[in-house]
Amino acid sequence: MSCDLCGKKGSTRKTRIEGVTYDACESCSSLGVDASPMVVKKKTFSGMRDTQEQVVENYSTLLRTYRENKSFTPKQLAMRLGVKESILLRWESGSQVPTLQEAKKIESSLRIPLVVKQENAPPGEYTTVESTSSQGFTIGDLLRKK
Ligand SMILES: [Zn+2]
Repeated sequence: MSCDLCGKKGSTRKTRIEGVTYDACESCSSLGVDASPMVVKKKTFSGMRDTQEQVVENYSTLLRTYRENKSFTPKQLAMRLGVKESILLRWESGSQVPTLQEAKKIESSLRIPLVVKQENAPPGEYTTVESTSSQGFTIGDLLRKK
């Protein structure tokens, strides 16, 4: 393919200039608007945010307060949750953190909020772009290689 505008041989792209579509080279295409049907403007951001679930920090207080409010003995509450009394006591004292699965189970059976969702920024925001100039490489070098 050669450029309709300057005749330069190489890769061209459909470019619309004043209502006429040309096959234009890289430099001429900047004179018009991209008319290529292939180009679909897509945001790099996927729209999927990574949410991470965590057991709340005050799980022990929540559990103990709940039990005391309901006047349950540790054994009664442990049975209700289907866990050993010793485990419940460890949760209440804060010496053991319930797993996410356990916390969810407690949450649904006792209706106390034990799991929080933490939103992580999309990974793209933290990726660093390596500077090509640090390697003695410029965009101009890349273009000349074509
Ligand atoms: Zn051209």
